[in-house]
Amino acid sequence: MIKNLLFTIAVFASAIVLAQSIPTPKSHFGFSIGDSYNLATYTQTEAYFRKIAAASDRVKLVEIGSTEEGRHQVMLVVSSPANLAKLNTYKETSQKLAHAEGLTDEAARSLANDGKAIVWIDGGLHATETVGAHQLIETVYQFVSRTDPETMRILDNVVILFVQVNPDGQELVSNWYMRESKPEKRSYENLPRLYQKYIGHDNNRDFFMLNMKESQNISRQQYVEWMPQIIYNHHQAGPPGSVLAGPPYRDPFNYVYDPLLVTSIDAVGAAMNNRLNVEGKPGYTQRAGSQFSSWWNGGLRTTPYFHNMIGLLTEIIGSPNPSKVPLVPDRLIPNGATPNPIVPQQWTFQRSIDYSVSLNYAVLDYAARYREQLLYNIYKMGKNSIEAGNRDNWTLSPKFIDSMKSAYRKDLKREFTSDTIPVKYYNTVLKDPTLRDARGYIISADQANFPTAIQFINALIRSGVQVHQATTAFTVEGKNYPAGSYVVKTSQAFRPHVLDMFEPQDHPNDFAYPGGPPIRPYDAAGWTLAYQMGVNFDRITNAFDGPFKAIAYGEVQSPKGYMPANAGEGYVLSAKANESFIAVNDLLKAGVDVFRLTNNIPGTAVATQGSFYIPATAKAKSALATSANALGLNVVSLAKKPAELSQKISPLRIGLWDTYGGSMPAGWLRWMMEQYHFPFERIFAKEINAGNLKKKYDVIVFVGGAIPRAGITRDTSSRNANREPKAADIPEEYRDHLGSITADTSIPQIKQFMQEGGTVVALGTSTNLAYHLKLPVRNALTETVDGKERPLPADKYYIPGSILDVKIDSTQKQTWGMTSDANMYFQFSPVFKLTPDAITSGKIKPLIWFDTDKSLRSGWAWGQSYLQDGIAAFAAPIGQGQLVAFGPEIAFRAQTHGTFKLLFNQLYGVK
Ligand SMILES: [Zn+2]
Repeated sequence: MIKNLLFTIAVFASAIVLAQSIPTPKSHFGFSIGDSYNLATYTQTEAYFRKIAAASDRVKLVEIGSTEEGRHQVMLVVSSPANLAKLNTYKETSQKLAHAEGLTDEAARSLANDGKAIVWIDGGLHATETVGAHQLIETVYQFVSRTDPETMRILDNVVILFVQVNPDGQELVSNWYMRESKPEKRSYENLPRLYQKYIGHDNNRDFFMLNMKESQNISRQQYVEWMPQIIYNHHQAGPPGSVLAGPPYRDPFNYVYDPLLVTSIDAVGAAMNNRLNVEGKPGYTQRAGSQFSSWWNGGLRTTPYFHNMIGLLTEIIGSPNPSKVPLVPDRLIPNGATPNPIVPQQWTFQRSIDYSVSLNYAVLDYAARYREQLLYNIYKMGKNSIEAGNRDNWTLSPKFIDSMKSAYRKDLKREFTSDTIPVKYYNTVLKDPTLRDARGYIISADQANFPTAIQFINALIRSGVQVHQATTAFTVEGKNYPAGSYVVKTSQAFRPHVLDMFEPQDHPNDFAYPGGPPIRPYDAAGWTLAYQMGVNFDRITNAFDGPFKAIAYGEVQSPKGYMPANAGEGYVLSAKANESFIAVNDLLKAGVDVFRLTNNIPGTAVATQGSFYIPATAKAKSALATSANALGLNVVSLAKKPAELSQKISPLRIGLWDTYGGSMPAGWLRWMMEQYHFPFERIFAKEINAGNLKKKYDVIVFVGGAIPRAGITRDTSSRNANREPKAADIPEEYRDHLGSITADTSIPQIKQFMQEGGTVVALGTSTNLAYHLKLPVRNALTETVDGKERPLPADKYYIPGSILDVKIDSTQKQTWGMTSDANMYFQFSPVFKLTPDAITSGKIKPLIWFDTDKSLRSGWAWGQSYLQDGIAAFAAPIGQGQLVAFGPEIAFRAQTHGTFKLLFNQLYGVK
């Protein structure tokens, strides 16, 4: 008895000592997390995390990489001290189960029994959603300091990964907010720039392409290192009249998911909802209660689904400034979406923090209680994937349903009304061997733009996909492939992600009710990365093998270049390879002469129209050798100089439109231009409106959202003048960014710029410029009703983010290096029709158009027949200069490598 008592006292005492040695947030930040009008910067937060990591035996701090602004991104691994001592074992167990490779069910059960659940909890991705970063700090503190039985049970059963997913943003937003000394005046409105250096809010659109450093850091921890069974991504704000939106989410979900994943999201969602109800915290809305669906890949919450991981997103209300829950009458009746509605009331930051901590506890308690099941289930989903990739398999999707119905209709020779149709249509349509899922994909090393294909491969590798490379030449189904070709098999745990990157997304026709308006997808409807990047691949539906070597998980590939020993008269770089443009920009910077071939040179495969010719000087040779090696370029030597067939090119002074606060499309482009070594300056409305643009620029690029619609006086571009801050209220360095593009103040200056010889590249909605200039083009997507022309209504024509097939006149200098067919990313994009004499008068040169009534390659294109014969891109001479207009997105999120050249071609001058 006495012995027991002493033991109890000893444990109690040590718990007190431990608790006392952990600095509270208040002792570090000077305020408690959740206090009104107080935000912590990342610098302060990182220091706090390091302090508690030093003080606590429940924390291991790991630096997972640096951010785009050069900060350390840290992850706190939190668990019991005993678990931390065996961290590598638990990580390996998690990897083995997630990969499911070579495991029996019995072995998996034993691993699950011995393992710990791995749960990712983050915060701060969207930096103005300030609850995120702050609930993270508070939750970390509680898990490091609390000693109640629930906390201890969670620490014993779960390894928690706490990650600030956008450190730069927290620094910017908190400093901006706290710069105001009077608390009541504090606000994070009117931020001067994006809260991720390049892409702001689009940092949650980068999780399969992985362009940004933060995305790469995160993806590595999730899909190569830790394989969390649950990934919880915090956001704001809840729909009006709710406190938060959370899982499960509305339909559609993606058809490549394992059903067990979908029901697992339901289970964790129920646990979150339950806990709030137990604690008397109303206001959780789910399913149809919010706009979030689970169709799209690329978000921090959704990419996990394609890896058999339970992705959670909550969007919660709240701000450091006290706020209100408004009255939304229709949310007050309880239903399946909002079982426990909240009534209108005052709201504080503290309440949002409390809710968030409860939600984290709910998820972690679930993980602790169902630890074995979570670990076994991720194995089970991986195993199902491997098996599906090893046999004939058909993934159900709307196109099959439509095919079965139309086959039946054809045989009947009439419409039918019954729900049930003869089973033979299942067997003939759905078991058609030509419609089987792929067993794998081969990316031949023998393709014009192989370095870009390797970038695609690297996106897969960074996402934890197993990739093989051929060690020698091989043959599959009668086709020969060289050594170095890549092979991606579908018999792997992350098969859903593999299918998603190679196959079209077949989005359902999703309408509010029959004949009603379309329901806007949460993000893109189709995005097939291999299509966007213009990668050539073969889809193999039979079992196949070859001299294939597995690349270690996470091992990024570098292309191998070739530099000929004998130069001849000069060298040629292919216009088809995007990386050629990097090499050319480096050559131009070094003062080396570069020419473009204006025609094909007979007898060579590389010296085609648009390719670059570089006379063989010593300087050219050494610069090219460096580039070939670094970029994986295939340099070809040419025996004879192609005299009349070439023109000398020069770098141009490039302006890239941007706006106060930062345009995300412009930010993506800024990043892309840096990657491809195009020097540029950002140009803002004030400078444009001041005129004389030709003095400083040769080409100006306007991304979507820059040029307002024609024929309206009010400015409708991304930011209008009366919403802007006063110049005196913002730091001096940003004052030049104020102002807006209007028909009266800007268009005459832009027109004059072109008349004096400038080139304007207009992308997406900025092709509005054509209407301001009264060019002989009109909107192709209209109908005439009662003699009046109007835009096509959404029940007739509706194309959200999708990939479409286009025809290209690739003989024009604007389109050099392209093939006559290409995939373009289209997103409610402008399409044009020409007036009868537009071409013959020389006013318009069509570059890209839709030549069929079935252009859809991936996604959703309701009423796509309206696109037929529509013009997607054109060039128009304006005085000494020109407008080059692209309706679809040629640089979308820096994913559309297949159409990057359409921009790059406009960025060189002719000497
Ligand atoms: Zn958000």
